Amino acid sequence: MNQTEINIRDRKLYIPRMSYEGARCMAAAFQSIGIDACVAPEDDAHSYELARRYLSGDECLPEAVTLGGFLKVTEQPDYDPSRTAFLLATSNGPCRFGHYLPLAKKIFQQRGEDVLIFAPTSANGYKDIGKNAQELIRTAWRAVIVSDILRKLLLKTRPYEKQPGLTDRIFQTSLDRVCQALALQGISHEQRMQELIIAMTAMRDAFRTIKVDKSQRKPLIGIVGEIFCRLNDFSNSYLLRLIEKCGGETWMSDVAEWVWYTSDEEERNLIRKNKRFSLSMVSCKVRQRIMHHDEQRILSLFREDFKGYAEPHHITEVLDLSRPYLPREGAHGEMVISVGKAIWFQKQGAAGVVDISPFTCMNGIVCETVYPRVSKDLGGFPIRVFYFDGLQTDFESDVEIFMELALNYQKNKMQQ
Ligand code: SF4
Repeated sequence: MNQTEINIRDRKLYIPRMSYEGARCMAAAFQSIGIDACVAPEDDAHSYELARRYLSGDECLPEAVTLGGFLKVTEQPDYDPSRTAFLLATSNGPCRFGHYLPLAKKIFQQRGEDVLIFAPTSANGYKDIGKNAQELIRTAWRAVIVSDILRKLLLKTRPYEKQPGLTDRIFQTSLDRVCQALALQGISHEQRMQELIIAMTAMRDAFRTIKVDKSQRKPLIGIVGEIFCRLNDFSNSYLLRLIEKCGGETWMSDVAEWVWYTSDEEERNLIRKNKRFSLSMVSCKVRQRIMHHDEQRILSLFREDFKGYAEPHHITEVLDLSRPYLPREGAHGEMVISVGKAIWFQKQGAAGVVDISPFTCMNGIVCETVYPRVSKDLGGFPIRVFYFDGLQTDFESDVEIFMELALNYQKNKMQQ
């Protein structure tokens, strides 16, 4: 075992709440290989304030929120730095995401606390995870798929529920059940898939029992934007619930979409480096095949439930839609996906799109310059960027105005 692996197995690993359901499922995936993982505390104004004490103000919102969640752990009565680890994703990309890791390490060093910032990366073959790395990666991918599905069921059902609160309750019990299947130890991939199929079928059937009133279709609002901010309720000031309160239904761009984008970029980079016929390409293709296979097996249980909510078969469909405005060859990352997905949502019948962006994030700023043209080309399709800076601002009147536009767009389309 390498040193990091020894360390991680000796500690409690906290997973940041990018989304609550995603963090729960990811913690369960780590538990399946014997790591004591749990979800970081809930983000709130207090955790954000804790982080701000260490930041200059130039950092982006997801960085502050993630750090705040970690610092909240340090306030727990049983906190022991030498038995604590924090999971932090990292990358070498052009945005501030790559700064999270060195900054978090520096802050805990300054505090004189020997916590482990655990940042497994594909650059070293995930060696920090140790001998179970490949097993974990596959379970983690399944965790992404099931949490995306669970969120999608929640968002499409809750606005129509006849009994207020029931959808949230079924969401919670379903999440618990799915996490049990993800966390099982010492079973094969096929056995875990069977367990997941049982859990996901039970979840689907539980959601189907919820009585809904669909006599009037609410305006469907596609949600795009920066991945952390759109998924983290505190970061986006609970905007999705506000849209529901103002009479809308939301459809969130899922996390798997980003994973497929990075995989597709990896393939393109290999081609660019003249490695079309290489072992790296074989490994990339095999991985994509396995990912696709797992995704389709689980999704096939929900064909009926997701009628009218079709997702693209391949990420390139989204990127092609974005091409006239932001071609992937000239622009990278979330901005390309957000523009393409906004158009996708319109084609699937959405009445508007909201782009959730952290204040000062380049992705939202670039998209905002492109959206007016997209909107015009789609016959006045309402698209609006909402910026967030960690302060719990009241967006109610802005959302009400946006919903009015979406409703009008929906009515006009129905009359055509
Ligand atoms: S995309 Fe924007 S908000 Fe997200 S990590 Fe990068 S700079 Fe920060």
